[in-house]
Amino acid sequence: MSDKIKFVLDEEDIPKSWYNIVSDLPVPPPPVLHPGTGQPVGPDDLAPLFSMAAIMQEVSGERTIDIPDPVRDIYRQWRPSPLFRARRLEKALDTPARIYYKYEGVSPAGSHKPNTAIAQAFYCKEEGVKRIATETGAGQWGSSLALAGAFFGLEIEVFMVRVSYDQKPYRRAFMETFGATCHASPSNLTESGKKILAENPDSSGSLGIAISEAVELAAQRDDTKYALGSVLNHVLLHQTVVGQEAMRQMELADDYPDIVVGCTGGGSNFAGLSFPFIGAKLRGEQDVRVIAVEPANCPSLTKGKYAYDFGDTGNLTPLVKMHTLGSSFVPPASHAGGLRYHGMAPLVSQLVDLGEVTPTAYSQTECFDAGVTFARAEGIVPAPEANHAVKGAITEAMRCKEEGQSRTILFNLCGHGYFDMQAYTDYNAGKLQDYAYDESEVAMALAGLPPVA
Ligand SMILES: *Cc1c(COP(=O)(O)O)cnc(C)c1O
Repeated sequence: MSDKIKFVLDEEDIPKSWYNIVSDLPVPPPPVLHPGTGQPVGPDDLAPLFSMAAIMQEVSGERTIDIPDPVRDIYRQWRPSPLFRARRLEKALDTPARIYYKYEGVSPAGSHKPNTAIAQAFYCKEEGVKRIATETGAGQWGSSLALAGAFFGLEIEVFMVRVSYDQKPYRRAFMETFGATCHASPSNLTESGKKILAENPDSSGSLGIAISEAVELAAQRDDTKYALGSVLNHVLLHQTVVGQEAMRQMELADDYPDIVVGCTGGGSNFAGLSFPFIGAKLRGEQDVRVIAVEPANCPSLTKGKYAYDFGDTGNLTPLVKMHTLGSSFVPPASHAGGLRYHGMAPLVSQLVDLGEVTPTAYSQTECFDAGVTFARAEGIVPAPEANHAVKGAITEAMRCKEEGQSRTILFNLCGHGYFDMQAYTDYNAGKLQDYAYDESEVAMALAGLPPVA
């Protein structure tokens, strides 16, 4: 075992391909269905929304997909990202566990999201697209796509969930600095937005609503596509640079994780780190235990149903089989805006269903307690979303202490929290609250799931 704390790779070590876990699944993923016909959708159904390259990746069964050179060239701006051994945190916890974290906060937008934003924008540009419409929760995805738009000369239009728009004005300034346009969602610019506002003028918005608005805008013009920052197979695929680098770095550390932990909103940063490790397990090479941490007030994996549902609130998207709280459910406001999504990536959902991933849920305040413990030991303030992964890792480290066992824990510190200081201001003032979700609302939303034979 190495006694270093920081494990860095060279630019040449940026992976040359993405890893597609579909190739190693024991059963193929359930098909995506057309909501009208109930039949599997084909590439043509998705063509108005996504680049053809993204669509082909969405349905690919190949184990590896080459990363285009122009995408790798931009990755070099911040990749390979560092992997740290959290020695000071280990000491603070007085645990025999060895804790490592992969740090994606070094990207220009401060999270893992540019890994896919750059790829999606590149393919759109290649196919002659002029404009991309999208949603953003906490603002991380909008920031990442704004950055990618600036790099490739694309117009970016972002629908930002109302509550985050109000909480995080600097995120909007960031997007606008890169030349993007940002609207609070629900907005009066789309039918889906108007409908929500008519029912509830004070709506705090949700990712599901913002997705409807962006999809609607993209469908209106031929030169406009839509981009999603999470959930879909091709997005998870692009994030696997994270886990592939981490595998090399764990080799440098002369160690291998017994436990891999990530937070889950739509599932992409979690998948990015964990899928290469899960793949090694599925191929019988190395065992690993994988933990997905979600917020207790938006618990799609631990309390949702594994069923076909819409990806958005306005029911404009195809039907995907996933863990869902129901597409009409609007999660309570919290500072981890990136985790406020009613569903979960179909691939992550399937791995939970297969027993390969263990889901857990923690409340916002427990996660901030963990995040502050981490910050004081390691010197990085995590994004509120990332605090969930920190909480999951610390819980496992404390279990090691109780059991007198030394295990290796690896987690994804998927972003920094330097745009989220209102959340920390509230926390430091003792004002951070845990809002429980309304169980009857979830029951109602689940009762409204689309019937699928
Ligand atoms: C967007 C975001 C998330 C949630 O999305 P996933 O697809 O689940 O990763 C989590 N953390 C950060 C920092 C984010 O920006």
